Amino acid sequence: MKVNLRHLEENELHLKGDLPVADLDFGLQDEMMAVSKPLHYDLQVEKVAHGLLVQGKLELKLDCRCVRCLKSFEKRMELPNWTLHLPLEGEEKTPVDNDCVDLTPYAREDMLLEFPQHPVCKPDCAGLKKDRHGKAETRTETSPTAWNELDKLNI
Ligand SMILES: [Zn+2]
Repeated sequence: MKVNLRHLEENELHLKGDLPVADLDFGLQDEMMAVSKPLHYDLQVEKVAHGLLVQGKLELKLDCRCVRCLKSFEKRMELPNWTLHLPLEGEEKTPVDNDCVDLTPYAREDMLLEFPQHPVCKPDCAGLKKDRHGKAETRTETSPTAWNELDKLNI
């Protein structure tokens, strides 16, 4: 995910593609989450005074396991208006290697902020079956029909 500054001399640059999993290296410590698919990017890069302006979309599908019911699911994370300003002069200067600026570390950092703290398959996930049946005994008195229906579905 590199911008070649020589290609930017005259006009703006359109970068579109997929960043392979091997380059992402999120350093995930959480066993409930894994990245097995590339990060998709669709970006517009233009030269602005003393730097670069990057605008566009980042998208990543994260493999998760629900912390409540342990079901595996895929969470789609999107930064539809990702904006990055990279100064090319001054003290905060962005590292340039062979006329290229690598956007990967910035994308990785901002995407990482979107990762869930505790992945849940759906906001109202009831958790493991065992727990629900434990609670079901008390609930049977209030709404037996609903719970019978759920048992019939065997979920
Ligand atoms: Zn769940």
